[in-house]
Amino acid sequence: MSELPGWVHVYSGKVRDLYVPVGASGLHDADSVLVVASDRVSAFDHVLEPGIPAKGELLTTLSLWWFDQLDDVPNHLIPDHTLVGDTVVERIPAAVAGRSMLVKPLDMFPVECVVRGYLTGSGWAEYRASQSVCGIPLPAGLQNGDRLPEPLYTPAWKAPLGQHDENISFERTVELVGADVAEELRRLSLHVYERGSAIAEARGIIIADTKFEFGADRTTGEITLADEVLTSDSSRYWDAAVYASAPTPEERMASFDKQIVRDWLAANWDKTGTPPALPADIVERTAARYRELLERLTGA
Ligand code: ATP
Ligand code: MG
Repeated sequence: MSELPGWVHVYSGKVRDLYVPVGASGLHDADSVLVVASDRVSAFDHVLEPGIPAKGELLTTLSLWWFDQLDDVPNHLIPDHTLVGDTVVERIPAAVAGRSMLVKPLDMFPVECVVRGYLTGSGWAEYRASQSVCGIPLPAGLQNGDRLPEPLYTPAWKAPLGQHDENISFERTVELVGADVAEELRRLSLHVYERGSAIAEARGIIIADTKFEFGADRTTGEITLADEVLTSDSSRYWDAAVYASAPTPEERMASFDKQIVRDWLAANWDKTGTPPALPADIVERTAARYRELLERLTGA
């Protein structure tokens, strides 16, 4: 983690490090937060070794691009520069420029807002066992990777550090945040997913599922899109051309996200103790897929 002049480190998640301006004692009394994305990669709730080169920068670029596309939803970004006379003063330290966002601290809701447009991952596992996803009944006969009849909102409870997030019912989110907020989180999540999916699909990319986090603005209470948005860490991204032509359901899901890492780990680790180090070719393939996703979506 970097020592950043003018900033104090207050928190590290699995992937990102949070800083507040010198003088603030924590997130609660800061006027701004510097969110620095590292190259760390996590899977099955473990941070793995080694990191993926340039991942922090690629994911920050992608998030910023999406926030810009999703301009009808309030988000947590604040200007990353100030004007002193005629001089533009960058607020993001040069040492972490490119991999950082400047955001306003929000009162985060303890709900991970998951939207699934396709059946896969834990949703597919539950479907095979009970023909439902997060308790929502589905038609019979669906295959791994099939498009769902309509996108499903399947929230999870955001567990404190070190604990597993837990799938919860919509009714449970009402208990956690109240009916009005719960309904707004569902509406906004489905809206952002549908808008993002349409934009991605026009570029030959499928967003199979994704996770959003929202918080309340501390002054106005406005529900605000926070965290990272539609990145390849928070979403499953598939290649639409492969999806349309692959010979088997499994082969449809050629992904631009960290599925390569998940698959390698599932095949080479029994999920006890420390995960093994990722081999160089898995790291390089993952880095290449992250780069390709950014190029295909943004044209950059
Ligand atoms: P955890 O959230 O449990 O720390 P994580 O591994 O997902 O796990 P990271 O994504 O690495 O964590 O860290 C980002 C953290 O910053 C998250 O806890 C997220 O909820 C928080 N966060 C994102 N945006 C804001 C915001 N605007 N105000 C306050 N906290 C935020
Ligand atoms: Mg996170």
